[in-house]
This record gives sequence, C-alpha cells and structure tokens, in this order.
Amino acid sequence: PELRVPFIGGNWKMFKTISEAKAFAEVFREIPRNPGVRTAICAPFLDIPVLTEMFAGTDIGVGAENVHFEDEGAFTGEISLPMLKEAGVGYCVIGHSERRQYFNETDETVNRKLKKVLSESSITPILCVGENLKQREAGNEKSVVSGQIEKDFDGLTPEQAKKTVIAYEPIWAIGTGKTATPEQAEEMCGFIRETVKSIYGGAVSESVIIQYGGSVKPKNVKEIMAKPDIDGALVGGASLDPEQFAAILNYME
Ligand code: PEP
Repeated sequence: PELRVPFIGGNWKMFKTISEAKAFAEVFREIPRNPGVRTAICAPFLDIPVLTEMFAGTDIGVGAENVHFEDEGAFTGEISLPMLKEAGVGYCVIGHSERRQYFNETDETVNRKLKKVLSESSITPILCVGENLKQREAGNEKSVVSGQIEKDFDGLTPEQAKKTVIAYEPIWAIGTGKTATPEQAEEMCGFIRETVKSIYGGAVSESVIIQYGGSVKPKNVKEIMAKPDIDGALVGGASLDPEQFAAILNYME
C-alpha cells in the first residue's frame, strides 16, 4: 500500500476573533512540531487572511470551514471558491455535521460543493461523514456512512476521490468529551476505506486519507493514530489552544 502521510487538522468552528486568531498564530508557529505530520487550521472566514499571513513560509496550512457551490451570484452571506483561492486557502471542510444539522446541508449540496472544490487543484477538501447517536444505537452506523459516501462522491473521478480527505466524525462524539474507542473508530475508518474500494478500487482506497474526529485530545490521540486505517484527525475544541493542538500533532513523542 502507498504510504499515507499523517494529516491532523484543526477546526475552530465559530471561535476566535481576528485578534484572537493572531494571538494563537504567534504562539503556535513557534512551537516545534514533527515535520512528518501534515497540519492545517480551518478557521472562520474573517480569520483566514491573518492566518495565511502569519503562517507564510511555514508548513502550516490554512483552511475554510465551508464554501458555496457557485463561483458568484445572488447568495447573500455566502463565500465562493474563487474568494477562498485568492485568500490563499489550501483546505476546505465540507459537510461538517454541524452544517448538516443546523444549516440544511444535504448530501446533494455536499456533493456539489465537493465537485466545486475539486475543480480547483490547489484546495484539498475535507469531507465529513458520520452517524448520530440514534443511528448508532439502532445499529445503522455503517449504512448511514456508506450512504453518505456514495451520495457525496457521486460523479467524482478516481483522481478526485483520491484527493478528498475523509473525516469520520460520529456526531455523538463531537464536542461531547465522549470519544469513540480506538476500536470503534478503526472499524468505521476501515469500513469507509472498503466503501471507497468498492466504488473506485484498491489504488484509490489505499491512498485516500481518512481522519477520525470526535473529542481528540493529547491524551487519546496516540492510541487513535496507531490504528492502521486512521491516517489523521480532525480536532475541534482541542485545536483552539496552541499548546494543546501542538501536543496532539506531536503524538509520536
Ligand atoms: C469537529 O469539530 O470536527 C470536532 C471533532 O470537534 P471536537 O474535537 O471538539 O469533538
């Protein structure tokens, strides 16, 4: 199998003003990090210019948390891909469960956004999938997640699928302090890889990066990252503190 470089991203959600983002970056960029772990901070749109400026010349990527599927138009309050591109964004979270839950994001809009981002070679999409508590308790987590993958990836070429980072984020573990066990996370990430394999074949599934997200902290990251089908993490709460996030990135030490 191809070597998959570990990739741990931060997702700030709706946290940090511009000055707070700057204060984070001033501290974070000075902390020694393992160069073998790829990283990016996905931040509110207003924080993006200060982060790209502060992280220029470093290996710290900057991402957005959402994007519209049209390039421009009468879509008040939205941000487009050309806007992100000009701002120097390298990543974009798509279909986060909070957007699916509170902002009417559907597999159809997720699919359109994914296709839009993949039309731009310099931006890597981070597609979020995952079941809620009710679905897990009913034993439906696999059918829910494979259904999301099939619909969200609809019409993507193998090259595009390969470029898409998939974040498995069980909704019951997000921001709850309730982590999936490393075994549960591995089972689902392995299942996602199988689902990708059934659509695109082994060459794509063996190179696609799959992250786990849901209450990842410095104390549990090592065990999670040790699992063979988990190539990284998407970190919410613990990415808001530079020392904590750096400790997660340096999980090998
Ligand atoms: C997230 O926002 O993607 C997330 C996983 O949040 P947390 O780490 O706070 O559970």
